[in-house]
Amino acid sequence: MAVKNIESNEVHRGQKGGVTGCGFDTTEHPNHWVNTNDKINCDKYGCKN
Ligand SMILES: [Zn+2]
Repeated sequence: MAVKNIESNEVHRGQKGGVTGCGFDTTEHPNHWVNTNDKINCDKYGCKN
């Protein structure tokens, strides 16, 4: 499962309503996040692997 920040186009591990692999809380700006099937492109620890 992946979640994209539509402001930055970064795709993180996780899903809308939760916390990304690298620690972003998607509930803080819920309008910036969408669930996606895109490939994860965040290279921070927790998302990349
Ligand atoms: Zn990330």
